[in-house]
Amino acid sequence: MRREPDHALLDAAALGGWAALIDALPSPVWLVDAEALRVVAANVAAALLFGMPVRELIGRPALELSASPEDAFYWAEAAEGIAEDIESDTLVRRLSGGQTLPVTRRVTRVRAGERMVYVVALVDRSEQVRIERDLEASTAELQATLESTADGILVTDLAGRIRNFNQRFAAIWGVPEDLLVRRDDDAVFDWMRRSVIDPNTYMRRLSAIDEATMLQASDVIRLHGGKVVERVTLPHCIRGRPIGRVYSFRDMTEKLEANERIETLSHTDALTGLPNRRQLGMRLDAAIHAAQRDASTFALLFLNLDHFKHVNDTLGHAFGDRVLLDVAERIQACLRQMDTVARLGGDEFVLLLDKADATSAEAVARRVSEELQRPFAQAGMTFTVTSSIGIALFPADGSSSDEVMQHADTAMHAAKSAGRAGIRFHQPGPERSGPTLRSRMQLDHAMRQALAQGRFRLNYQPKVELAGGRVVGVEALLRWRDPERGEISPGEFIPVAEESGFIVALGDWVLSTAVRQAAAWERAGQPLAVSVNVSALQFQQPGFVEHVGDAVRDAGLTPELLELELTESILIQDAAEALARLNLLAELGVRLSIDDFGTGYSSLSYLKRFPIACLKIDRSLVSGLPDDASDAGIVRAIVQMGRALNLEIVAEGVETAAQRAFLEQAGCDLFQGFLFAPALDVVALQSRLDSHRNMPHAAPRPAPPRHRVAH
Ligand code: C2E
Ligand code: MG
Ligand code: MG
Repeated sequence: MRREPDHALLDAAALGGWAALIDALPSPVWLVDAEALRVVAANVAAALLFGMPVRELIGRPALELSASPEDAFYWAEAAEGIAEDIESDTLVRRLSGGQTLPVTRRVTRVRAGERMVYVVALVDRSEQVRIERDLEASTAELQATLESTADGILVTDLAGRIRNFNQRFAAIWGVPEDLLVRRDDDAVFDWMRRSVIDPNTYMRRLSAIDEATMLQASDVIRLHGGKVVERVTLPHCIRGRPIGRVYSFRDMTEKLEANERIETLSHTDALTGLPNRRQLGMRLDAAIHAAQRDASTFALLFLNLDHFKHVNDTLGHAFGDRVLLDVAERIQACLRQMDTVARLGGDEFVLLLDKADATSAEAVARRVSEELQRPFAQAGMTFTVTSSIGIALFPADGSSSDEVMQHADTAMHAAKSAGRAGIRFHQPGPERSGPTLRSRMQLDHAMRQALAQGRFRLNYQPKVELAGGRVVGVEALLRWRDPERGEISPGEFIPVAEESGFIVALGDWVLSTAVRQAAAWERAGQPLAVSVNVSALQFQQPGFVEHVGDAVRDAGLTPELLELELTESILIQDAAEALARLNLLAELGVRLSIDDFGTGYSSLSYLKRFPIACLKIDRSLVSGLPDDASDAGIVRAIVQMGRALNLEIVAEGVETAAQRAFLEQAGCDLFQGFLFAPALDVVALQSRLDSHRNMPHAAPRPAPPRHRVAH
């Protein structure tokens, strides 16, 4: 709009210096005549804002320079003379281009010289608005980020007021919607406090976090209802200065449950629920630590069930498992709360006895051993199980957990080699301690080679009649000289062969060799009954009976000249199966005897049921004769029982004349032992027999009746 120059009435003087004043201001300012409501002065900043020179602004109606309804309304009021001063955010429009700009605009009515004017002052807000928009956008972005994390997030300022949170936070803590909507910080915090199981610790921890503005902390918080929450908190800083805190909350419940399950599984034996090797290792380390600290001792017991493999093999694993559960329970019943019993697998248990010395360890070992010997009743069967226990003490028998474990293990194997059903302490010194696993494996390897290279031999120990002194038979005993190790005792290598299964091949060799030797003696007109030791595993081989029959037939031996020495354990495992086999063997004409009688299961019932011809009283019972009253009593009882059942009784390990006299007097039939001769090779045996025959006291006498139990 063009203005009349006269209309610009408006000389600077009339405005009383206001024109100069507004020119000096950096923001856009113009003056509006209160009556005409037209611009009477404008500064350079205003000219720049509107995009036209000052002189072109002058004379324009005030309304033209505003763009909002609010301004239009204002100038309408001004026209009526009722406008008050105003300050608000509004818009102005550039006159060239028509673009609107956000501004803060203040209008003040003042006297300027002779007239009343409105001073319109603007602050350009476009930059501020841009910043605000950016901020809004990044806030929205942040919120979206917050919401998209799986963690609950809570942001507070330094005073602890809630500045931000996400929905996940509300969900993890179960904060009611209305508390959040109300933004009632105290109520939210109170809700959280009441949700935790241990509010005291929770609050203590929070105030510690509050006190240290730069603290980074991570805590695990348990909530009522079982939820487990991990809280991580970091200071919230701007340019290195803390302005508040960020808390993140992670629901650990499921992960923890899974972990706990894995933890328990990885620390316990699945069958019995007892600690496994791993957990035992940890407890052992702790025990060593405690013992070193208190200068105290503890004991480690290795327990292995005797011949348990056969229970599994013959009665099935399900049955074996039930026995193991029973065993675990019985062992536990013998221990104190502070002790540990772990199962390493199979029939191997380890007992860790806290603060125990040799005496108390032995007492526990005896208790456990007796407890396990009580008959087990499973699936309608009653039977007994014995165990071999090795004991090692800390720190006497080893300074590390490995060493103590190994020594207890070795002691257990020593107990096994010594005839099972026993307890052994670790014995320092390489010869006296039993073989370790490594050396057992080496031994097994060496045995297999020795058999292939023909390095096993059989020696024969005479069986002598107590009454007449006649040699009526021999027991074949394995001998092995290893080129490097020298002579190795069967007490050492037989258990290893039984463990590895090699005993089957070795036993076959013994059987055929012994049978051929017996046949040779028979052919030479000097019949000698030969006893062959049979291991349980060998006995259980599917073709065992046929194999025996073949060996006897192939060699042309009179079957009655072969005797098989069985252990009691064979008879108690699958009794029905054992009975069937024993009957078949007896039908072949082969004699059957029970070896090491008096040490194991000793049940009368099977003696009556099975076609057994002979009992061999174990060496350990003979060694105490005649002075040990208990041994003497047991031996007498066995002899009497044997007589009643029509069994031949052989005493093993007779070393002294006194033992021999006692046995003869007790009514025992035969004896074996160093007193007469150890196991000898064929040549040495021959000369021993020859010299014996020539002695006056050994005049031949009628053969005793060969007992046979009807079946
Ligand atoms: P066993 O069947 O009870 O054999 C008797 C053991 O007592 C033999 O030990 C024998 O040498 C020993 N002995 C005999 N008289 C005396 C004595 O007066 N005093 C002492 N202290 N000992 C005596 P060996 O030969 O060391 O055999 C040990 C065990 O190894 C045998 O006990 C047997 O169970 C097993 N064994 C030996 N040969 C074989 C075999 O061919 N097959 C199987 N399966 N086991 C065998
Ligand atoms: Mg024997
Ligand atoms: Mg024996």
